[in-house]
This record gives sequence, C-alpha cells and structure tokens, in this order.
Amino acid sequence: MSETGVAGLTLNGGYGHLSRKYGLALDNLLSVDVVTADGELRHASADENADLFWAVRGGGGNFGVVTSLEYTLHEVGPDVYALFVWFHGDDTAVALDAFREWTETAPRDASVLAFTAHVPDIAEFPEKSWGEPAIAFLGSYLGDPDDAEDIFGSFRARATPITDLSGVMAYADLQSMLDEDYPDGLRYYWKSIFLEELTDDVIDLMTRYNELAPSALSTVDVWHLGDAVADVPQDATAFWHRDKPYMLNFEANWEDADDDGANVEWVREGFAEAQALSIASGRYGNFPGLNEDPAKLLYGENYDRLVDVKTKYDPNNLFQSNTNVPPRPTGA
Ligand SMILES: Cc1cc2nc3c(=O)[nH]c(=O)nc-3n(C[C@H](O)[C@H](O)[C@H](O)COP(=O)(O)OP(=O)(O)OC[C@H]3O[C@@H](n4cnc5c(N)ncnc54)[C@H](O)[C@@H]3O)c2cc1C
Repeated sequence: MSETGVAGLTLNGGYGHLSRKYGLALDNLLSVDVVTADGELRHASADENADLFWAVRGGGGNFGVVTSLEYTLHEVGPDVYALFVWFHGDDTAVALDAFREWTETAPRDASVLAFTAHVPDIAEFPEKSWGEPAIAFLGSYLGDPDDAEDIFGSFRARATPITDLSGVMAYADLQSMLDEDYPDGLRYYWKSIFLEELTDDVIDLMTRYNELAPSALSTVDVWHLGDAVADVPQDATAFWHRDKPYMLNFEANWEDADDDGANVEWVREGFAEAQALSIASGRYGNFPGLNEDPAKLLYGENYDRLVDVKTKYDPNNLFQSNTNVPPRPTGA
C-alpha cells in the first residue's frame, strides 16, 4: 500500500516487498525527532538518546510524537518482476504446499505473500470465476527479471491459474497496485500472529475461514518473513518477533457499519483457532485489532526494558492510544 502512513508503519515494524532483503522499515531508520511527554523535542539515533531510539523502533506511539524519520535508502529497480497469480480455492492445499516448499530455499531477492480470498468481479478475471474462493500469491523478485520465471516456476507448475497478472513493472507501480482495493472509508479489522511453521492445520484454517468470511473483500494471509529481518539480533531494537519465518493475518475488509459485528467476530474466531496452535505466538503491532491484546505479546523479552524507557520518558502514560506499555507506578 502506498497510501497508509509511514510513521505508524515504521514505528511498529514495517513489512513489505523489500523486508527479506533490507529488513523491516524500522531497521532502515537512521534517526528520529520525537516530541516527548514533557514537551521537549528530542533527536534520537544510535549516538544520541540511544535508549529512546531503541524503544521507538518497535515501540510504536508509546514514547512520543515522532515528527521526522531519517532513513537509509536502497537502489531498487526501477523495474522489478511482480508476481500476482490466482488459483481456484479447490487448489489451496496444493498451491500452499508448493509455497511452503518454495519458502524453504527462497532467495532474499524474492518475497511472496499468500492469501485466500474470493475472485473479484473485474475484467481481469474470467466471469465464471467471479465470487469463487481462491488462493493468490503476490510478490516480487528484485534480481534480474529474466530469472524470475525460474524463481517462481513452482507456483505455476502445481495447478492451473485462474488468472496470472505477473510481469515486469516499475517498483513504484507494484507498490501502489492494490491502493484502489483499500479505499479510505472501507472498514478494516486485522489481527496477526507469528508462525514457526506453515503446517497443514494453518492451511486448513485459511481454507475454512475464507469460506466462512462474511465479506468477499476479506482475506487470510500468510507472510513469508525471515532473512534480513531475522539477521538483526532480537534485542537490537524493541521489535522482538524477528525469528519467526511466517505471519498469519486475518484481514476483515467490509463496507457497511451494520456488518461490523459479524466481521470482527469472524476474525476473532479464526484468530482463537490459530492461537491454539502450538506453532503460533506473538503479535504484530501494525495489525493490532483494536489494540486489545497485551503489549507483552509484541515485545517478548524486550518488554521490561521498554517499561524502563517508558517510565523515563512518559511516566504518566500520556501516550496510551496504542498497544500500551504502561510505565512503572511512581515510586516503584
Ligand atoms: C490497507 C492497508 C495496508 C497495509 N499494508 C501493510 C503492509 O504491507 N505492511 C505493514 O507492515 N503494515 C501494513 N499495514 C498496517 C500499517 O502499517 C498500519 O496501519 C500503520 O499504523 C499505518 O501507519 P499510520 O502512520 O497511518 O498510523 P496511524 O493509523 O495514524 O496510527 C497508528 C498508530 O501508530 C502510532 N503512530 C502513528 N504515527 C505516529 C507518529 N508520528 N509518532 C508516534 N506514533 C505514531 C500511534 O501509536 C498510532 O496510534 C497496512 C494497513 C492498511 C490499512
């Protein structure tokens, strides 16, 4: 998405087409300016207010209002190979099995998000498939586009696509390709959990909940993570869940406020089943539902250190409209 804000994205992590090669958005931060709870404007970097710089990289909005973000940049494209291929829902198990195998040896130049969905009723898809359940793969290859067919070959070999929209395009076009599918004013409720493995139980969950979805706009996604994200030590920034190779995200997207209850419930029921799996744990701060889950689930063993920084910079918990890390009570 090119239209969502970069501040929240970065302060809570930041996954995208480039993360497996260049890390999280927050791994590419050089410095920030932050207005802290005492009204002071503070510069934070590896050399200045280093505790604050550590905490804002993953700690979200807990530590102040970030008024500038300085990033390191990477040369990408301008053209890259974009993968966007859709199969019928009947092929979900076969296609996700191919995806699972592919992730085991995927190069870090290649990144793929898999999602169960319903076929949109637009001209790019055969009319007879409109509204049918589907499994789709969206990704990119940052290396030589001529190699991409080989890199992604296994996805196409296992089943016959409904539609294959893959091809070489400007990275900026790939980055904004889905903007019109996520307009302002649509209703969203998303929750995610990390996975140690992409098991058959997860594949079954994705298939079943796709069929149960009250809205045809909703998806159940598996993000393939790792590589550059996992290269960074878990205590180097506040962002803890770097070691997990996958993330499962229930994404409810719907139009009418009258349908809020059914869509939120759909996510929560699917999520409860996912959470019960032994290979599932943690939370991702950018898909936080309504911030209803405890911050400890995001921060693992970084939590106590975050509480220390919070207590130093925001002792009265001024900044609490987030997945909140409460300061220690006064005198504690
Ligand atoms: C359609 C869509 C697609 C998305 N795709 C991705 C994706 O590909 N990868 C991914 O990682 N995430 C994705 N997200 C999640 C996205 O990263 C979060 O919604 C993120 O919070 C958006 O940032 P924002 O600046 O708009 O935050 P806001 O919604 O404005 O704020 C969210 C929270 O972030 C914090 N925050 C925001 N700005 C500041 C600031 N200046 N200073 C301090 N704290 C701040 C606050 O705690 C605030 O409550 C997507 C979201 C949507 C709606």
